[in-house]
Amino acid sequence: MPQPLIGITTRRLVEQKYDIPMAATPMSYTGAVSRAGGLPVLIPLDSPLDHIKPLLTRLDGLLLTGGGDIDIHSFNGEAHDEVYDVDTQRDALEFELVRQVLQTRIPLLAICRGCQVVNVALGGTLYTHISDQLDGALAHSSPPDLPWHHVAHTVSVQEGSLLASIIGLDKLEVNSLHHQGVAQVAEGLNVTARAPDGLVEALELPGHPFALAVQWHPEWMPDSLPMQHIFSAFVRAAQAG
Ligand code: MN
Repeated sequence: MPQPLIGITTRRLVEQKYDIPMAATPMSYTGAVSRAGGLPVLIPLDSPLDHIKPLLTRLDGLLLTGGGDIDIHSFNGEAHDEVYDVDTQRDALEFELVRQVLQTRIPLLAICRGCQVVNVALGGTLYTHISDQLDGALAHSSPPDLPWHHVAHTVSVQEGSLLASIIGLDKLEVNSLHHQGVAQVAEGLNVTARAPDGLVEALELPGHPFALAVQWHPEWMPDSLPMQHIFSAFVRAAQAG
């Protein structure tokens, strides 16, 4: 099979000089997919919902990227002043992408916001600001003066999970660039990694060939071998599919 086509979700960005709305994605994601042997293609956030089905017949893998917060009304969440960059058009597209891709055998890798999108799309809830809502929470939102590959905490990885089989470790050092997190886990999803404070750091859909959601940012840790393995396993699964 030729190099697999990996769809990558985008965020709204307004180009400054001419004030033009753009659908953009950080090149950390496209670069990670390219280095792992995939062909990255962007999915504009304004794609009509009826394009998802035909899109998924062409894609070999789907990567849900990070970004702003999900609208609290999608999961009856607690309002908080720190909620930022809500984009209901992006939310709606990504919820539907998740629901449809999980009905196929197309591999899904969801990162940070993507992990939260998977949980909410399937009926779960979020902490809308972890440090105010989870007792004993670690600092999951790294200070802005630290590089994004900074190791913020470890995660314990569930034995026998897809994630464990990919990285071959039961503990992993990760970065942490999120102020929200999974609260109630959607029915049907397995928690396969947790931070030392108990917060969910990875979710998987059992029975699916490759449905992995992680709360950290493997794309910002390109020198970490386990993070490289996550992208290479994802692209390999997309190629095999
Ligand atoms: Mn974290």
